[in-house]
Amino acid sequence: MAEEKELRYDPAAIEPKWQERWAADPSMYAAEPHSGGKPKYYVLEMLPYPSGQLHMGHVRNYSIGDALARHMWMRGYNVLHPMGWDAFGLPAENAALKNNTPPREWTLANIAAMKRQMQRLGLGYDWATEVTTCLPDYYRWNQWFFLRMYEKGLAYRKKSKVNWCPECATVLANEQVIDGRCWRHEDTIVEQRDLVQWFFRITAYAQELLEGLDKLEGWPEKVRIMQRNWIGRSEGTDVEFGVENRSERIRVFTTRIDTIFGATSVQLAPEHALVTALAADDAGLREQVAKLLDEQKKAREAGDIGEIEKHGIPTGRFAINPYCGELVPIWVANYVLSDYGTGAIMSVPGHDERDFEFAKKYAIPIRRVIAPADPHADQSELPFISEDGVLVNSGDFNGLSCHDAQSKLQEIAKSKGFGEATVTFRLKDWGVSRQRYWGTPIPIIHCEHDGIVPVPDDQLPVLLPERIEITQQGGSPLSKVSGFVNVTCPKCKGPAKRETDTMDTFVDSSWYFYRYTDANNSASPFAPQTAQYWFPIDQYIGGVEHAILHLIYSRFWTKVMRDLGLIKNDEPAQRLFTQGMVIKDGAKMSKSKGNVVSPDDMVARYGADATRMYALFAAPPDRDLDWQEDGVAGVSRFLGRVWRIVMRYAPAARAGAQSKADNPQGLALKLLRKLHQTTAKITQDFEGRWHFNTCVAAIMELVNDIQAADAQLAAGEVPAPVMHELLQTLVLLLAPFAPFLAAELWDELGGEGAVLRQPWPKSDPGLIKEDEIEIPVQINGKLVSLIRVPAGSDAKAIEAAALAEEKVKSRTAGKTVAKVIVVPGRAVNLVVK
Ligand SMILES: [Zn+2]
Ligand SMILES: [Zn+2]
Repeated sequence: MAEEKELRYDPAAIEPKWQERWAADPSMYAAEPHSGGKPKYYVLEMLPYPSGQLHMGHVRNYSIGDALARHMWMRGYNVLHPMGWDAFGLPAENAALKNNTPPREWTLANIAAMKRQMQRLGLGYDWATEVTTCLPDYYRWNQWFFLRMYEKGLAYRKKSKVNWCPECATVLANEQVIDGRCWRHEDTIVEQRDLVQWFFRITAYAQELLEGLDKLEGWPEKVRIMQRNWIGRSEGTDVEFGVENRSERIRVFTTRIDTIFGATSVQLAPEHALVTALAADDAGLREQVAKLLDEQKKAREAGDIGEIEKHGIPTGRFAINPYCGELVPIWVANYVLSDYGTGAIMSVPGHDERDFEFAKKYAIPIRRVIAPADPHADQSELPFISEDGVLVNSGDFNGLSCHDAQSKLQEIAKSKGFGEATVTFRLKDWGVSRQRYWGTPIPIIHCEHDGIVPVPDDQLPVLLPERIEITQQGGSPLSKVSGFVNVTCPKCKGPAKRETDTMDTFVDSSWYFYRYTDANNSASPFAPQTAQYWFPIDQYIGGVEHAILHLIYSRFWTKVMRDLGLIKNDEPAQRLFTQGMVIKDGAKMSKSKGNVVSPDDMVARYGADATRMYALFAAPPDRDLDWQEDGVAGVSRFLGRVWRIVMRYAPAARAGAQSKADNPQGLALKLLRKLHQTTAKITQDFEGRWHFNTCVAAIMELVNDIQAADAQLAAGEVPAPVMHELLQTLVLLLAPFAPFLAAELWDELGGEGAVLRQPWPKSDPGLIKEDEIEIPVQINGKLVSLIRVPAGSDAKAIEAAALAEEKVKSRTAGKTVAKVIVVPGRAVNLVVK
């Protein structure tokens, strides 16, 4: 029964053996020296947060990247395929509190566990370049970059609103605010407090971040649209209203200066400086404003300021329209935000939906100042939002188109000094301060004499103290570590205090992929020439949920590094691919739904190859994948068939290794043709279509064809050299998808060296094409078209193909085809009347 055993596919025996061999040879997946002359290829999957367990979303993401990396290795590229850990963040602090484990230990143990899982899956990473963001050899460079940005005015401090739990006495992240309450104190309403926070001036790059999107043709359009909306550029006009009997001016921004003659009120934020001034000696106003402010705070805390029920109060004061001197009432409104734009708006109810609603509610006059350009359009309906119109009720400007009026009114504002054309962005500066322990300490010292003093470079890293007590109460944990806080001022040598905020963890992921290129550099974040060799990333792969924050921050960071002279590329990644989610029974996998499928279970039952291949086969990579265990079992059975076929015919194939088949015929030709067609399809898919599901399906078809010919193969009908090409190429085609099985079978077929170092098979176009022949079609003796039909088609099939051809169809439309003469393999003649 020895034969039976040999024919049984047993991934539990094969896979650990190869895993061990690969682990023992770090050069296997290592990038080569740049001088090697090979073209470079940098393929990267987004680094995970080390929660301690891979989930199926990870497996899918990494299976895509690993298949691509393996394919590119076989195509002869010098491939960089690294992995690391986004290792700072709140869960480690929560775990510390819950289990009394220090965040560092908890995190490093999780990393070790996940690394074992990745290795068991056979993912081909270059572990020599591993990056762990919570370790000082990495985060010291966060600090170094912070200092460079501070020097350039790109890092600065300002007062800003934060979520504050009075019970915790600490700042909360947005995700810790649930329905306006603290996540740990269900009965405690989270407040908004003003705290001085550190910011990165990402808005300095707003225009470039926007324009760069046009060039990112290798990014999904949906991601580019999301970023455009997030950056939110709008062109418009800044214009100042005067205030009757007062010296202040009210600056507003509008995209529709052409409607300013329709402004029937000016609306101020409750915290606008003029409101504060007016309320100073008006207790009644003060009280009402406080109420509006309270409503605004609550709406902000609930996270839906756009949905606030709009309230306002008239101040009894008047603003002066700078173009016509008209007096319009000044209101205070709860939906106008002091930290958005100028904190004031002109309200034009005739031509703005929101203003219209507000004016109707409070009986503020509604005036038409734009008439539809089309004289037949309804002239009475308001609000009229379109810019396709002409000005009316607008003094000297009546009759101008909206567009002309905009430039005319901008010119006047500029020449008279009460306004100008401006561009505004929705994008805000990036608040990076966190009052938490498990993050990069901000390298700043506060001195009573010298103010803000940067930590000198030679004192980096500012180490995160270990074994501190984490209570998540009473403010920043670092502020309670006196050994950390109290320092000597580098300037005056007097006593001073360290900054106790740590950096947002998005800082870590903004540049980690540069560190991979030179991960062990202790003198600089990376050697510029090394990064310049590898960048931009050729293919970045990750979830679409990172479309905004991570992918905008890392584009910003790249531009900053370029301006520091470290790199030459403007963008981090040439191509981006966003894979779909893995779901189960139609829903996202989650513990609470009880529908989580563990990668370890799948690997234990079916092997890593089947698990990975199923993740690629079950759906196109950009679509959601509904995990079906039956499907994994099916892929495993398929791999078993491959195993048996190769094992059975390996002796025959080995016998043909040294020679090439001359002029194969019959079954040999049929199988070779199928092989080359499959090769062509998979090669093409790797070049950009990425329909890995159909690639796997094509390999399955090929294997079916081989299996169907089993009896003839057993009878030796196919020459040994063809068997050799057939099986060896099959194994090479499988290698990016099922690396363990491919390695084992490669050995079995007598292949030399590692599969990964074999050239990717080439398809012979002649061999593929021969399947079809071209036949000319004539109508009444004139050549009209050429059709392609399978070689050996009969007269009936050729006639049908000819009549279905577009040109033939158009020339016979409405006419009678009197006769069809088919010369099989040669020509078709139609007689048409
Ligand atoms: Zn709380
Ligand atoms: Zn000092």
